[in-house]
Amino acid sequence: MEEKAVRRRVVLVPLPAQGHISPMMQLAKALHLKGFSITVAQIESNPLTVSDADDFPHFRFVTIPTSLPEPELKIVGLVEFLTKLNEICAVSFKECLSKLLQQQQGDDDGIPSCVIYDEYMYFSGAVSKELKIPSIVFSTTNATAFICRSAQGRNNTNEFLAPLREPGGQDKLVPGFHPLRYKDLPTSAFAPLESLMKLYANAAQKRTASAVIINTASCLESSSLSRLEQDLQAPVYPVGPLHMAASASCSLLEEDRSCIEWLNKQKPSSVIYISLGSLALMEHKDMMEMAWGLANSNQPFLWVIRPGSISGSEWAESLPEEFSRIVSERGHIVKWAPQKEVLSHSAVGCFWSHCGWNSTLESIGEGIPLICRPFSGDQKVNARYLDRIWRVGIQLEGELERGGVEKALRRLMVNEEGAAMKERALCLKEKLKASVKPGGTSHNALDELVSFIKTLQYK
Ligand code: UDP
Repeated sequence: MEEKAVRRRVVLVPLPAQGHISPMMQLAKALHLKGFSITVAQIESNPLTVSDADDFPHFRFVTIPTSLPEPELKIVGLVEFLTKLNEICAVSFKECLSKLLQQQQGDDDGIPSCVIYDEYMYFSGAVSKELKIPSIVFSTTNATAFICRSAQGRNNTNEFLAPLREPGGQDKLVPGFHPLRYKDLPTSAFAPLESLMKLYANAAQKRTASAVIINTASCLESSSLSRLEQDLQAPVYPVGPLHMAASASCSLLEEDRSCIEWLNKQKPSSVIYISLGSLALMEHKDMMEMAWGLANSNQPFLWVIRPGSISGSEWAESLPEEFSRIVSERGHIVKWAPQKEVLSHSAVGCFWSHCGWNSTLESIGEGIPLICRPFSGDQKVNARYLDRIWRVGIQLEGELERGGVEKALRRLMVNEEGAAMKERALCLKEKLKASVKPGGTSHNALDELVSFIKTLQYK
């Protein structure tokens, strides 16, 4: 008699932020297509959850009860929030996972054979170990930033913090991390250095996982990937860019589609698209310099101004009337855009980005060169790589000033230098497309990951 095939179930634990949930849901989709059953465990009392489970009808969603009040994130800042979250979630996740194990004993859909958790949700690793379920870390940033964070977490105050405090130390190259300077290392605008180092150290020391999945591709950072594998002494699966391998839409904010109609009326490769992601906050004076730089560049632009992202303003109301009058014909401002669709639109010529890793992948995945203005964390690593290694971006450094903004935009949109960057970006796009196709490195890494998960067992 033929044996009934039992699907294996994986439990995914995303970090509740847009830039982390999207790639986790893309990974979920990719694994589901490979025959796994999916459970997504999300924390309670947080507005940043995938609320529309209708978009993922084949997945189960469970809640990890927490006692964190909703505004906690705003009050304590992201880093403290994550540290606190890890302290309080272990007990409730243990209950939640134990329940899943009991409920699904004998279930055709399989009991959880493995937990895949966001690098910063490290309580999940500890709990999985306790319950004897294998776990795998998922990193939503790139391999280079991962290595930096692990090294920073290990060395804590000495090697990486001291140069940051010396005069001129910030501009020095970090030995062994070319072309990164001390100021490019992942530090946070949201927290004191010490708190961040504590978070990195916790994430590194409490890592009990048997492998690491990472949303990057070998063609982008093969030497960092080899180094990471050596550092961790565990398999590393570079399966990215996941949005190209398995699209899964889960925007946590409402997308304003008027910008697509507006883009339809613009000339090919003429528009500057500006977005600073879901978390970055900007000073009002920087917004003004940016606005006048854009106005003086004479290029059409589509600008995402997220409500609450400009200090002292609710939205875009503090932009001067004169600016609005000058750019009325060639500027369009929205609160949130369907970014991937925007970047794939033929009218878009460049992306002014904060260089979050998702935005970076989405941009180079469409062959769009960037103006890089990082704020925090791994964005600085990404910006440096875009500018110096992949050479598809111009990093704007120092004080933001309208003359500098206009000059950078011209370099990218008008000069030959920009045309060469565009060519390199298109070349990267082809390499990334090839990597997620059958026979490509990321495609193979996903197959290897699938085989690896199938060897894992709940004991
Ligand atoms: N995004 C979007 N619409 C916008 C701005 C951003 O859909 O108007 C999406 C973008 O496509 C990306 C994510 O938000 O997938 C931002 O992630 P990223 O890692 O770039 O930055 P973060 O928000 O984590 O700083």
